[in-house]
Amino acid sequence: MTTFSLIQSMDLTAANTFGLSASSRLGAIITSPDELTAAYDYARAHGLPVHVLGGGSNVILSPQFDGLTLLMAIKGKTLIGQDGENNIVEAAAGETWHDFVVWTLDNDLPGLENLALIPGTVGASPVQNIGAYGLELADRFDSLTAFDTQTRALCTFSAAECRFAYRQSVFKAEPGRYIVTSVRFALPAQWAPILNYAGLNTLPPDRSPRAVMDQVIALRQSKLPDPKKIGNVGSFFHNPVVTADVHATVRAANPTAPAYPQPDGSIKLSAGWLIEQCGLKGAREGQVGVSDRHALVLVNHGGGTRAEIEALAARIKATVFERFGIGLTAEPVFY
Ligand SMILES: Cc1cc2nc3c(=O)[nH]c(=O)nc-3n(C[C@H](O)[C@H](O)[C@H](O)COP(=O)(O)OP(=O)(O)OC[C@H]3O[C@@H](n4cnc5c(N)ncnc54)[C@H](O)[C@@H]3O)c2cc1C
Repeated sequence: MTTFSLIQSMDLTAANTFGLSASSRLGAIITSPDELTAAYDYARAHGLPVHVLGGGSNVILSPQFDGLTLLMAIKGKTLIGQDGENNIVEAAAGETWHDFVVWTLDNDLPGLENLALIPGTVGASPVQNIGAYGLELADRFDSLTAFDTQTRALCTFSAAECRFAYRQSVFKAEPGRYIVTSVRFALPAQWAPILNYAGLNTLPPDRSPRAVMDQVIALRQSKLPDPKKIGNVGSFFHNPVVTADVHATVRAANPTAPAYPQPDGSIKLSAGWLIEQCGLKGAREGQVGVSDRHALVLVNHGGGTRAEIEALAARIKATVFERFGIGLTAEPVFY
């Protein structure tokens, strides 16, 4: 019988990039799908709630979780083969996302370079359909395998079944139901760079995949605070997507407001711009604050608490709503 190692009072302070002091009554490091099944069997037998963590870069943790926390550490990455116009590559859930991107380029399998340096794991990448610099995971997705915590079986998801949308998927819509164990990517055999994003559009179109990745890394490092130096979870709010009518109202009063038309006629606004216009860049609530480099990022100045994050996020939402009539939605998952 496959079993797994149970850790009592697992300290999660180093397992979340906001650097919140946190612990879980029980924890386990999961290195195989069989261990995952065994851990869920144990939790069910003992009536324990379960949380799953990858790199902890998109979560706001409670100081104490009275349940079982599973840290996903299933490893492995391989080229499966060619399927029509794509190279199919598979990576296990516990692989570090950026290391996987580098590995694809080392193996002459370009296509993910615009998503370089996003923190976290491969297994979490479909959860909010990670995206950056003109590319989303959904654009390079083939299929994935997940453990269904209701049926206790491994199942396969196509792209349509994942219901990907902007920072959304079935895994975010039904939290806790499916635990991703591996992801397959479809990387174009005939690669062409995606350079239509500000900062990349100055590169000549004949740039190599590695040159694109290096530029993405340089841009990210110049804009976003490094969680190793100051705790954060990247963008704290989704960019609001509004109707053309709402956008017209915002634009009438603010002609310079950045706006990105979407294929369905809606308009994506910049949450960071809205927050900055409210004078909240650098604002603080105790030891937690709005980054003075990027208004969309909340940072931990040291010893910050979840209560301070909640208070600051509520203040930002209320201020933006009062000024623009637009509601902001938090991006990280609150556990
Ligand atoms: C500095 C910084 C920059 C960032 N930039 C970007 C960016 O450009 N674009 C972007 O999209 N995101 C960005 N993020 C957010 C974050 O990196 C991504 O959301 C990432 O995919 C989270 O991965 P993780 O392993 O850390 O997930 P965690 O934070 O551990 O978990 C996030 C959620 O996913 C669930 N989860 C984790 N693993 C699994 C699994 N195997 N199966 C099912 N559910 C799972 C968790 O239960 C939780 O609900 C950034 C974060 C930081 C700190």
